Amino acid sequence: MIQTQLREVQATLPESVTLIAVSKTKPLAALQEAYNAGQRHFGENKVQEMVEKAQQLPSDIKWHLIGHLQTNKVKYMAAFVHLIHGVDSFKLLQEINKQALKVDRVQDVLLQFHIATEETKFGLDLREAIALLRSSDFIELKNVRICGVMGMASFTEDQQQIAQEFQSLVAIFQELKHTFFPSCEWFKEISMGMSGDYQLAIANGSTMVRVGSKIFGSR
Ligand SMILES: *Cc1c(COP(=O)(O)O)cnc(C)c1O
Repeated sequence: MIQTQLREVQATLPESVTLIAVSKTKPLAALQEAYNAGQRHFGENKVQEMVEKAQQLPSDIKWHLIGHLQTNKVKYMAAFVHLIHGVDSFKLLQEINKQALKVDRVQDVLLQFHIATEETKFGLDLREAIALLRSSDFIELKNVRICGVMGMASFTEDQQQIAQEFQSLVAIFQELKHTFFPSCEWFKEISMGMSGDYQLAIANGSTMVRVGSKIFGSR
């Protein structure tokens, strides 16, 4: 069942797009089944749950922390997390840097942007991101590497609106690439698209899709 769903999603993805199987709330057996089908990138939104799963599953899994992240949780995953998608403040970036330094890693992260009309979603706007990237405090952070951007579209049926929100994230990506990362080959990721909208996200330039219920069933 999971293998079939996974293959179905994989079959529609271009080679260049990374599929993150979002396994939050799902049992180990479900993740193992996806792993056995070849899946290696997994996404979780709670640090503790991710840590527990990582301890019990194969070590070649690449773990993505995709949800809102509290500063005091960073230390628990600093030794192994592959990519942190939800960075939306300098304070958080500073803590990630501090914990990465302790374990002698350079931590890859994405800046999360607020692209939806809803008030509730976390994320920076372009102005805030520019201020962050310009600050001398940021330049001092040697143990974090910003690899791109992440965003979540509004929860709506309006495809046009979702497409516009995805396009706004791509525009932000391009602006930052041009201004701050012109020769940085690692600044290349646009994490956007979930079960309901990942095809639209890819059509608009996504490089990473975060798909949960379409693979593992509803939560
Ligand atoms: C849960 C979650 C997803 C996956 O959602 P589905 O609709 O189940 O595909 C993607 N991104 C984030 C940030 C999430 O929290």
